[in-house]
Amino acid sequence: MALIVQKYGGSSVGSIDRIRNVASRIKKLRDEGNQVVAVVSAMGGVTDKLIGMANELNESPPERELDVLLSSGEQQSIALVCMALNDMGVEAVSATGRQAGIRTVGSHTRGRIDEIDPTIVQGYLAEGKVVIVAGFQGVTHDGLIHTLGRGGSDLSAIAVAASLNADVCQILTDVDGVYTCDPRVVKDARKLPEISYDEMLEMASSGSKVMQSRSVEFAKKYGVVFEVCSSLNDNPGTLVTEEHPAMEAVVIRGVSIERSQARVTITEIPDKPGNSAKILGCLADAEINIDMIVSNIASNGMARHSFTMHTNDLGRAQAALKPVLGELSSEAQIETEAGLAKLSTVGIGMRSHSGVAAKMFQALGSAGINIGMISTSEIKISVTVEETNIEDAARVVHEAFDLDKKPEA
Ligand code: ASP
Ligand code: MG
Repeated sequence: MALIVQKYGGSSVGSIDRIRNVASRIKKLRDEGNQVVAVVSAMGGVTDKLIGMANELNESPPERELDVLLSSGEQQSIALVCMALNDMGVEAVSATGRQAGIRTVGSHTRGRIDEIDPTIVQGYLAEGKVVIVAGFQGVTHDGLIHTLGRGGSDLSAIAVAASLNADVCQILTDVDGVYTCDPRVVKDARKLPEISYDEMLEMASSGSKVMQSRSVEFAKKYGVVFEVCSSLNDNPGTLVTEEHPAMEAVVIRGVSIERSQARVTITEIPDKPGNSAKILGCLADAEINIDMIVSNIASNGMARHSFTMHTNDLGRAQAALKPVLGELSSEAQIETEAGLAKLSTVGIGMRSHSGVAAKMFQALGSAGINIGMISTSEIKISVTVEETNIEDAARVVHEAFDLDKKPEA
């Protein structure tokens, strides 16, 4: 007998049939003698619909009320899943965030889990019941409802698994694992049997959005090993786990792509302390998320900075930067370029293998694909290319690192 924590996302509970499917999967685990806790999201599209209604009534809805409203989506799901289970003869009870002892701190709509008191859930389990927990929500120490940020049910599941010291934690979704690249782009992409927390985080930050990044960070911090797998079949998924020495034998775990990127370059910046802070500070104040930052060494006392962002943010970035330009120098200018995409190779093996960047750039060069900006971390190399080239770029790099072939053990 094992204690299994599962998480079913919005698409997995997106219709009456899908809810029945979830219930029969849970029933099967229960029939095999396991204890089961399932954390569920709101039915697909419900959260967005609720946000839409709120915005129709009020341009900036009070966040306290948004939390009350949005948390109701998950509350529908837990009740429905329990009803389906009861109909199949399985004893199941629902638990809201409060009932599941999920205590949060921080602000409305972006609550952080502070602690979990698992007593109530453990009590139900001891009575032989399946427990269905509402994801994405908790209550403050003062009893106010908090939601945990979009995609927050992943975090709820990882945290519940940690608090119960579960034997197994599974994130069930509509993809059946983490692939070496998006299979819609690279047709011989392979499902990875395992990936380290850090690689998973770098893949996510590069566009392979299987899960909310915050929940992977949480899992790493608390050592929760989990599996990403499909809610629609029984194929083995991908285990996300601490790295172990054998993992470094593989140089590159995967290739990830992010479309709709734009570049902003500021030229003729006097090479003086504080100028970079001024530029990035005004973008931060405008809440613009900067991705890659490349700056060159000054020549003639003037430097240039380039950074990338989502294309949607380009207009706002230009507007935010305009007033700062004059403060920098009379010659300072902004250049912008949209229609870019980012390609990243990710792998902890990079730490112990050399020549990874050279191989990647060679593959792109031979395919006639020009590289714009380059940035690296210890386990990731990212480049920008023209968006029209991104699929070819992904294919040639995937092939150059033999990612379609199973690595030798
Ligand atoms: N229902 C919430 C959302 O759509 C939480 C989740 O699905 O994880 O963001
Ligand atoms: Mg979701």
